[in-house]
Parts: sequence; structure tokens; C-alpha cells
Amino acid sequence: MKTQAFQLTTLSQSSLQDYMDCAQRFKLRYLDRLSYPAVETEPTLENEKHQQEGEYFHRLVQQHLIGIPAEQIARFANTPNLQRWWENFQNSADLTGLKDLTGLYPEATLSAPLGRYRLLAKYDLIALRDGKAVIYDWKTYRKRPRNEWLAARMQTRIYRALLVNAGAHLNDGRPFEPEQIEMIYWFADFPEEPARFPYTAAQFTRDWDLLVKLSEEVASASTYPLTDDRQKCAFCTYRSYCERGVRAGDIDQAEAEMEADELFNVDFEQIGEIAF
Ligand code: SF4
Repeated sequence: MKTQAFQLTTLSQSSLQDYMDCAQRFKLRYLDRLSYPAVETEPTLENEKHQQEGEYFHRLVQQHLIGIPAEQIARFANTPNLQRWWENFQNSADLTGLKDLTGLYPEATLSAPLGRYRLLAKYDLIALRDGKAVIYDWKTYRKRPRNEWLAARMQTRIYRALLVNAGAHLNDGRPFEPEQIEMIYWFADFPEEPARFPYTAAQFTRDWDLLVKLSEEVASASTYPLTDDRQKCAFCTYRSYCERGVRAGDIDQAEAEMEADELFNVDFEQIGEIAF
């Protein structure tokens, strides 16, 4: 199939993660903009519902953080999953006092130049507390991923690095020191087991060097090889296009491998407003 390649102007954690996982997937998704020819995981309906609830949960938390009272939010947490996640959110020791902070930036978007691109990230929440800038990311995974897996994700690396390079306006015009930054993944089904990732100047240098190198690679790439790791294909929407299988991988296995991460990435622009 011949496709029209789009000119890419921005890079994100999703696109760079795809590039790292499989250059062909990056090409099909971001350059060819091929729509989704196959489901990613089975059982499909149940996973779609879980994904929608995850998106809705993000919206409820965001509404709460901008001032909607908890009792009002609770009325909208009207499925067993949403109810449990919302209760966990309210009772989590790690989130106590969060909404009373003055420096709260829910759904913040930051961007900075990266080679010929702009690097863009949407944060669930940036909270300024005790002289630190804490990045919160809400996850509704059914399994708690390993910290080692999370540490290596492009999201963990990009979100912290970009806050150093593009967050000065949140800090009276002074860039945050890497040591002031921490990223916390909070798991709605594992509320007392958040994953915490502090940051150092050495990690920041390593991350930004990698991002510059990746952006140069993306800019000059002329071939986009299929991954050698066929395990990744089982959960990929393009597997029939690549002739890497027809049947979708199982969600339990996907979450065990955490290859289904993008299933639960929330694109706020696609979430409808909720009338409160
Ligand atoms: S099916 Fe496999 S080779 Fe094809 S884009 Fe997806 S991950 Fe890459």
C-alpha cells in the first residue's frame, strides 16, 4: 500500500517510545498516519470499557484539582472501577493535602525545541510542594508494573527532562534544578504503592543527550525496520499490515509485559467535557 508521508513537527513520549520499540510502528503511526487496522488486545470490549473509564477518571481528578468538591465528583464515579479508584484517590496517604497546595498545574502542557522538532508533553499534574516540583501521573493499570520497566520508559525520562528545560515559568522564571524534580506514578488500583523517580543533574544530561540523538536519528531516517522482537507485534495494531499475525494478544499477558501502555495513555483532547 502506498501512503503519503506527513511532515512531522513535534515529538512526544508516545512517538519516541514507538520509535524505540519499532521504527516501522513509528513510521506507520506518525509518518503514514495509518489508522488502526486491528485491535491491540483481547477481549476487546472489556478493554475498551476499561480504557474509557481510565480516561474518565483522569477527567474527574482534573476537575477536583481545579476546585470541584469531592462530594460532587463522587456522583460521577458511577461504575465499580470509578468508585474504587475515586475512593483510593481520596484515601491515599501519598496524595493527602494535594488539592490544597497553591502551586498546582493539572493537565499542564510543556514544550521545548529539540533539533528540528518541538518536544511536547502533557502532564496529568505538576505540583509545587516543599521547594520541589512533583510530576504526578495517574495510571489505571490492572497490574502494578516493575519500577525498572517504568524507569526505562520514555515518559519517565522525557517528563522530567522537559520540566527542567521548559518549566521556568512555573518557578519565577528560573529553571528547576534536576534535583528539585520528582516523578510519581500513582496507580489507582495500588494506591499505596506509587513509583517514585527523583532526578539528578547526571540523569538529566544523559536523558537530554539521548533525546537530541533520537531526534537527529528520526530526522535523518530513511529506513524503518520491523522490530526483531516479535513479542511486541502481538499487541500492535499494525500486525496484519506487517504480516506478523492476525489474532490480538491477551490483555493479561500484555499488562504482564506492559506492552499495552499506549492503550491507557490519555489524550485529553479526545475526552469530552463532563457537565458538573
Ligand atoms: S506489527 Fe510488529 S513490526 Fe509491525 S509495526 Fe507493529 S511492532 Fe512493528
